[in-house]
Amino acid sequence: MTGELAPATRLITGGRPAATPGEPLNVPVTFASSYHADGPVGYARDGNPTWTAFEDVLGDLEGGTALAFASGLAASSAILSLLPEGGVVVAPRTAYHGALELLRELADAGRAEVRHVDVSDTAAVVEATRGADLVWLESPTNPLLDVADLGAITAAGRAAGALVVVDNTFATPLLQRPLELGADVVLHSATKLLSGHSDLVLGVLVARTVTTADDVIDRLRHRRAIHGGIPGPMEVYLALRGLRTLGVRLERAQANATELARRLGDHPAVELVRYPGFGMMCAAEVRGGAEAADRVVGAVRVWIHATSLGGVESSLERRRRWGAESPLVPESLLRLSVGIEDVDDLWADLSQALDHALG
Ligand SMILES: *Cc1c(COP(=O)(O)O)cnc(C)c1O
Repeated sequence: MTGELAPATRLITGGRPAATPGEPLNVPVTFASSYHADGPVGYARDGNPTWTAFEDVLGDLEGGTALAFASGLAASSAILSLLPEGGVVVAPRTAYHGALELLRELADAGRAEVRHVDVSDTAAVVEATRGADLVWLESPTNPLLDVADLGAITAAGRAAGALVVVDNTFATPLLQRPLELGADVVLHSATKLLSGHSDLVLGVLVARTVTTADDVIDRLRHRRAIHGGIPGPMEVYLALRGLRTLGVRLERAQANATELARRLGDHPAVELVRYPGFGMMCAAEVRGGAEAADRVVGAVRVWIHATSLGGVESSLERRRRWGAESPLVPESLLRLSVGIEDVDDLWADLSQALDHALG
């Protein structure tokens, strides 16, 4: 029956214990390092019932088998550890800076060759997949909100024999399901939209469910166990609790983002708005460079000046305040993570802050 229900319903119905009179509706937080012998799990690095509930929901939504990790970057590292020595990687030229940093370290050490591409230039990405071992995609990208043609690129990547990984953090499985579009593995920073309350760090990988001797999910599960990048049960419990409301949170935040992107485009302090037309992330380039953009973040009262994204609260930051951010990201770019507050309150606060940028 589960497969016939809509994703917004499966967010609610999945990952629950069997209905038993007198028993709780939710899985408990299982704090355990060791389990009685002869069961499916013996030691805590191999599994945990609280992880399983979260993984069941996310795996069902993305259409594969899910594994929770200590963070989005722990999940990223697990994938990169599958790369053969000297492997060829196709990667976005701008994307989440941590993933690009991991790739740069591999390249600097001579352990990988990285081909950087503009993910929105499909022909160039397809061309770069020739001879690749790994195609690393992010769409929409962080923080420029570039969108990739996942269907065309995954087809080329798979034809080249590469493993195709898509960071789906900004879209969530409610808006985009990369496995259905041909990807092998989906990555999420569950720190962001999936958990949605800016109170934990968590990552997750979802791999296409296949039954071969060399199943990628088995290799990733092994990496999680031996590298030790496992999540705490409390974080996973909170993430599952947050995931239950993803449908309504995203619906509201997306409606807010759509409206704010439109209004931002009409503000004289804004040079360029980047909004892919879906989701709750957008970016605005402010006239007057870094200084003007800094005046905006200094003047907000309802919006929060902070890094990270995907929470119920609206937040913004000038990405280039971080030395690790790509120089391809304009100095004046503000990344906006739109929350679920009243849209007129959000606009009143943002527009008065933008007025400050005009000086
Ligand atoms: C934050 C983020 C990550 C890294 O996740 P952590 O949970 O912070 O380790 C990866 N990808 C994207 C798109 C992100 O925004």
